Amino acid sequence: MTDRQLPAGLHPDTLAVRTAVDRSQYGENSEALYLTSGYVQPTAQASARRFAGEEDGYTYGRTGNPTVTSFEQRLAAMEGTEAAMATASGMAAVMLMCFSLLRAGDHVIYSQSMFGSTMKLIGSEFARFGVESTSVSQTDVDAWRAAVRPTTKLLFAETPTNPLTEVCDIAALADIAHKAGALLCVDNCFATPALQRPVTLGADIVMHSGTKFLDGQGRVMAGALCAPEAMVRDKFLPVQKNAGMVLSPFNAWVVLKGLETLNIRLKAQSAAALDIARWLEQHPAVSRVFYPGLPSHPQYALAMRQMSGVGGAVLSFDVKAADAAQARARAFHVLDSLQVLSLCTNLGDTKTLLAHPASTSHGKLSEAQRQAAGIGQGLIRLAVGLEHLDDMKADLLRGLDTLNSIQ
Ligand SMILES: *Cc1c(COP(=O)(O)O)cnc(C)c1O
Repeated sequence: MTDRQLPAGLHPDTLAVRTAVDRSQYGENSEALYLTSGYVQPTAQASARRFAGEEDGYTYGRTGNPTVTSFEQRLAAMEGTEAAMATASGMAAVMLMCFSLLRAGDHVIYSQSMFGSTMKLIGSEFARFGVESTSVSQTDVDAWRAAVRPTTKLLFAETPTNPLTEVCDIAALADIAHKAGALLCVDNCFATPALQRPVTLGADIVMHSGTKFLDGQGRVMAGALCAPEAMVRDKFLPVQKNAGMVLSPFNAWVVLKGLETLNIRLKAQSAAALDIARWLEQHPAVSRVFYPGLPSHPQYALAMRQMSGVGGAVLSFDVKAADAAQARARAFHVLDSLQVLSLCTNLGDTKTLLAHPASTSHGKLSEAQRQAAGIGQGLIRLAVGLEHLDDMKADLLRGLDTLNSIQ
């Protein structure tokens, strides 16, 4: 199937709703879900040409599927890249990128505030195969520059980060990467193309966990790499064909439909997050709020420039306490007092989700490592959904206003 013919110059909002492969002969308005693992070949000759790569056409589910292609084309259009490759999860996207671009002896620089599994995959798993890496401060541009080696092939950052919403300067990192002859990949999971398009700032690859805001309703796992056409065709596709970390057509269809509402969801959820961040900053039981949309955020100006003037839909806050034990008890009290919002390890859902990083995503670190990372026992992450603001605040107050009861 070929690209649906759309006029040039359409806006991202339109592309998010309209980009897909051609309609089938039935004229469906909502994109079809093609649940098939194989494809009937018109002739043996055509089949041979397709397997030889001399002719377009689907052959087998591990090498392509029209519903998956629609998702890839739509996400690429929204990110402003030539192409994209879908994967089974966000981590499968990181895996595919490293597998496709790196070999033993190559060096990767990544932010020490990245998603935990990303750091483990690069820093531990790929190290077993001779890939070297250095982790540096998310916000210290000089540290990134100083870490460059002659063998550096990839710089990898995520912005804003989880859970402290640290923002890095994409354009500055792209400059460092390109001067070193390396590539910059940005994990755009938190901001999404609705707020931030890393390739317009010089990034070469955009990585996504489709599990988060792209799906937007917490239903399926998905991932993707958005990149130049030649990189997708010559680097990612040959590995994906053999490694098989493919996105299922059903999950692709769910995320494809999620992309249609991404812009309005993210803007509405971000507006609510800003309101809650300001409100929490005033609450006497809260010592600090981490949110790129607040002037108190250390990279506020950069974040506003880079993220369309919007802070995103995820924030974290510290509950005031005398020591770590009290902080943990207080954070648990706030979480256990919820009656509406969910205690749930995910984000980017229409339902507001709260998590306690120190005992979940960062639970395996030592207390000293957690302190160094700024992830205290009183820290709560809040991924703001679409409930009414008054109901969200009332639910948070159930715990925040009764902390004295647990002393
Ligand atoms: C969730 C997440 C990932 C991993 O994605 P999965 O779909 O869970 O594999 C990577 N990066 C960030 C920032 C995430 O939040």
